[in-house]
Amino acid sequence: MLCETNLYRKFLVFLPVLMVMMGACGSPQAAADPVETPVPFLVERFDLDSNLTVRSVQPGVYVITHSFPWPANAALVEMDDSTLVLVDTPYTPEATKDLLAWAEAQFGEREIIAINTGFHYDNLGGNSYLIEQGIPVYGSDLTARLVEERGDEMRALTLSWLEAPQYQRYYEAHRNLPYTPPDHLFALDKGLSLQFGAESLEVYFPGPTHSPDNVVVYFPVRKILFAGCMVLGTDKVGNTSDADLAAWPESIRKLYQFDFEMVIPGHGDRLDDGLLAHTLDILAEYGQ
Ligand SMILES: [Zn+2]
Repeated sequence: MLCETNLYRKFLVFLPVLMVMMGACGSPQAAADPVETPVPFLVERFDLDSNLTVRSVQPGVYVITHSFPWPANAALVEMDDSTLVLVDTPYTPEATKDLLAWAEAQFGEREIIAINTGFHYDNLGGNSYLIEQGIPVYGSDLTARLVEERGDEMRALTLSWLEAPQYQRYYEAHRNLPYTPPDHLFALDKGLSLQFGAESLEVYFPGPTHSPDNVVVYFPVRKILFAGCMVLGTDKVGNTSDADLAAWPESIRKLYQFDFEMVIPGHGDRLDDGLLAHTLDILAEYGQ
């Protein structure tokens, strides 16, 4: 209001000063822009089907939860240059196709890139569809190797959890799920930095955790850490068949170097910045 009054007086006297002042005051529309208002984590929810949900958690940031049958999170982030970055994928190529169809309806045609944070199927079960579509899929050299080396073992373990008759549908899908490695590899210990206009992201390996190859993806402009399966979003440690329980807590502590306000775990609905401490607590209890 004060701003407008000043503008009006100056308008009568000197127009160029008005132009400068307008820039400084901003338009009413800019003031109403949701980007300028701190938004609680859930902004809007889209149910793509009974197993696949997309939650808008900040303008341009979507957490995708695919329950197949265990709920697992991926994320889609609209970067400064309009590229969409998909971190991890739904479990299956079919659900990944549904997600990208939703994204196209939502955003129109966009450049898309994908990043896998580990070799488990909840990180990359949708790769075959992404690669068919010509979408570059980034992942570490170790992730690509472990898909080849441990894929059969991982499938056998998964199927052993799905033997009850009510899981038949999931059993069949996991039996036939293509484990396709990422096709744009980076050295695990070097990580990866990518730039999208004025915005960047950083892929970082803090050491072994839930799996030997789990990496995090940090979005500095948004202060979001996609931490994946190394950070526990529920009260359980989950599948430890590939975990390094001794090294895991020290690796988690290294994540405090990032300035984050939101942490996206591989599983669970919590997205708050207390998830690293929560993970350390759960791991300590589990180790006793
Ligand atoms: Zn996981």
